[in-house]
Amino acid sequence: MSSTAMFTVITPSEWPAAPKMWHFSLLKEIETCPKQWALTSAEYPNLWDGHGYPPMANPRALAGQTVHATVSSVCNALSEAGCSHLSDVEVIQVLRKMGGFTAILTETIDRILDRQRSNPRMGHLIERFRNDLVQDIPAMRQQVQRHLNRISLIPRASSLTGAPHGGKLWGGSYHELRLRDDSVSFVGIVDLLQIENRRCTIWEFKTGVPSDQHSEQLRTYALLWAADKERNPDGIPVSRMLLSYDDHVEDVAPPDPDTLSSLRVDLLKRREAALAAVSSTPPVANPVPEHCRFCSVRQLCSEYWVARMKWQEEGDGTWVDIEVKVGASRGPRSWDALVVAATGIPKETPVVLVLAQTISHTVLQKGMHVRLLNVRQGETEGVITVGISATTEVFGID
Ligand code: SF4
Repeated sequence: MSSTAMFTVITPSEWPAAPKMWHFSLLKEIETCPKQWALTSAEYPNLWDGHGYPPMANPRALAGQTVHATVSSVCNALSEAGCSHLSDVEVIQVLRKMGGFTAILTETIDRILDRQRSNPRMGHLIERFRNDLVQDIPAMRQQVQRHLNRISLIPRASSLTGAPHGGKLWGGSYHELRLRDDSVSFVGIVDLLQIENRRCTIWEFKTGVPSDQHSEQLRTYALLWAADKERNPDGIPVSRMLLSYDDHVEDVAPPDPDTLSSLRVDLLKRREAALAAVSSTPPVANPVPEHCRFCSVRQLCSEYWVARMKWQEEGDGTWVDIEVKVGASRGPRSWDALVVAATGIPKETPVVLVLAQTISHTVLQKGMHVRLLNVRQGETEGVITVGISATTEVFGID
């Protein structure tokens, strides 16, 4: 019998220091909710050996990571072998050497999941996630091929390879390339940067739905490329920027010099505002349904549990979070409970907690005060039911 992990709602013993070096996702995270950044980045030595709060990923996000990492590694191998397109005859040799797409995807899945084995929130779900991901390999393989088919790689001549770990870049394709601008304390890792005939093209591979943030991210990379005197000492301009999605490619207009200047000013202002936002301890929370729903530390955030009582029902109203006080047992797998905080259910409303067969019944006991993430809410004969499954997380409140 598998068991839903049981944790305690804890407060960081020490809030994190403000970041010294910035990147696009960090800036967006702090702009979205400073407290989320602080709760995620604080250390929890009594919980695990890793840094920050242990993250929770779902199979969809893990599939996206797998596709992204596979596109990157195949792209890199093809570039190094001097291939320019997936249809080149040499590609078969390169892919055979790597074991073929299925083997590459399987290895990537295992590598990504291995990083989570010591994660107390995910450890018990690894095999389940692995099975789901392996079943998804045919679809992921098609996604990888769609991305790769769009790219014309520019081989790196060995004598003109430049220095992938530092130094001026010459003509060629560079993957997972780190750019930095120390004057704004910003770094960025570009999925694919290509230089040919003094023209630079930047690609980003996206596995989710299109978003304005993606073009904003590309513009930030163009800014870093323009300012990176080590990688781009000759000031080669970005002439094309592309976002590769599963079913289409979007061209994003590269910024001209004037636009780059205003982007730089804007970035500095935003960085200063973000620094100010994380200077208080704890930083301010910004509870809004569209962000909190995906927040991996919402169980620790008191503002979220207060705010969600005023929100409208989320999604289709079936998979939700709820805070309850557990009452008497109704049977081996069900308990009475009273609502403390929920969306669309008043405080003190009686509900019935129902455990899935696969969950150990010891996870809940009378008298517990718990926050339950990802429960299935339903109704049977006028009684609200709260279904607890293997993907539900239970957080006790002392
Ligand atoms: S739950 Fe919402 S308000 Fe709380 S830290 Fe997360 S994103 Fe911020």
